[in-house]
Amino acid sequence: MFQRCLNELASNPRYDEPPLETRADGKTYCTRCGELRWLDLSEINPQLHLIVRPVCSCIKAQDDALRRRTERGNCERARADCFRDFSCMREATFAADDRQNTHGIREICLKYTEKFGVPDLRRTEWLILFGNVGVGKSFYAACVANALTDRGFRVKFTSIPRIEQQLSKTFDKAAVYDALNTYDLLILDDLGAERRTDYMDEIVFSLIEYRSQAMRPLLITSNLSRREFDAPGDTARQRVFSRLWNRCLAVRMEGEDRRRAFMNRTNEQRLRELLKNA
Ligand SMILES: [Zn+2]
Repeated sequence: MFQRCLNELASNPRYDEPPLETRADGKTYCTRCGELRWLDLSEINPQLHLIVRPVCSCIKAQDDALRRRTERGNCERARADCFRDFSCMREATFAADDRQNTHGIREICLKYTEKFGVPDLRRTEWLILFGNVGVGKSFYAACVANALTDRGFRVKFTSIPRIEQQLSKTFDKAAVYDALNTYDLLILDDLGAERRTDYMDEIVFSLIEYRSQAMRPLLITSNLSRREFDAPGDTARQRVFSRLWNRCLAVRMEGEDRRRAFMNRTNEQRLRELLKNA
């Protein structure tokens, strides 16, 4: 009876509790790991009328597994949210980087990730990765996003056209900007590739304002050249670009078109396979 009561008292639906047993010494032990599970403190100090239930190794192991599962689940959810508009970038991680022609950008992005939010977000640089098509700007921006998500930061990888879509669906434009401001890092992919309208420029300008006020960083990738940033052609855009350029740490990415290089490699490989099987 006493034994059954002990087991019932000790049971917690969160755990697969191993059965307990009371041994000849009158103490209660876990039958799986053999560690003490029931301690009457009055045995140590008669004034202490307290019974404690030490956690044994089996419960600790379950606790660790539960915590890891929760962290993994949280991380997966944060990652799904981050890449909702760009699910293809979810797999872009520093570990998956082939390290071809990185021209030091990998190191810059790794350092950026390491120093992100230290000591706080206000001190974190705004970053702009610019250069030719296919040199890996979006890839490295996504690497940063994935690494920061792993560290528990909230990141959003999106683009101006996607934000424009969201804004077009609501009259409450401020709510869209406020929601974007809840992210620790906002990544705008491929700035300048969108069709040119004053409205698009206004969105970029508003984002700069909102992020500045919230003192939260922005990371931008762009195929535009330094010259195009300096002289974008009209004054409305110049206002946006000069503000952005002054605020951001600019990182120029050079090198071959990695997408094309990858395609070429893949193509060659497929051709070799074809010839081999012929
Ligand atoms: Zn145990």
